[in-house]
Amino acid sequence: MRDDEHDTLRQLYQYRCGYCGVREEDVGAVLTVDHFEPRSRGGLHHPENWVYACHACNEFKGDFHQPDQPFRILHPLRDQLGTHVTEDADGRLRGLTQTGTFHVERLHLNRPQLVRYRVERRRQQELRQTQIRQLQRLQELEEQIQAMTEELNGINREAGNKID
Ligand SMILES: [Zn+2]
Repeated sequence: MRDDEHDTLRQLYQYRCGYCGVREEDVGAVLTVDHFEPRSRGGLHHPENWVYACHACNEFKGDFHQPDQPFRILHPLRDQLGTHVTEDADGRLRGLTQTGTFHVERLHLNRPQLVRYRVERRRQQELRQTQIRQLQRLQELEEQIQAMTEELNGINREAGNKID
């Protein structure tokens, strides 16, 4: 694999594991390249067959490959993951189809560290939402203060005129 091919793959996957979504920053390293169709089963060493994947997901996937069975691994880009898998509020992934359930189990996508990672990500998103709401509220208050100041200035001008 050439450097530019590697960079293209990383970009394509937004520097995240295609299977579990952890980022290079989370792992503190460049991730691995999975052959979706394992080389041991005749898979080609070709961009079409590459998935950017963290070490753990790559290991759990191993040389499993049954593309024509309901019990198969989903492809991060070619399958509609949302049809097969959903994330619950407790950070655990749940299969919506037989294939989704198999996919989650096979790749151990509810390993404790990943569940904690998702919970933490949800918490961060909620904090961001709260922060946005607070900034909006602050903006509204500033506008009210502005309007009241103008009103007050008007009253002062009138009072000043009367004294004169
Ligand atoms: Zn992963």
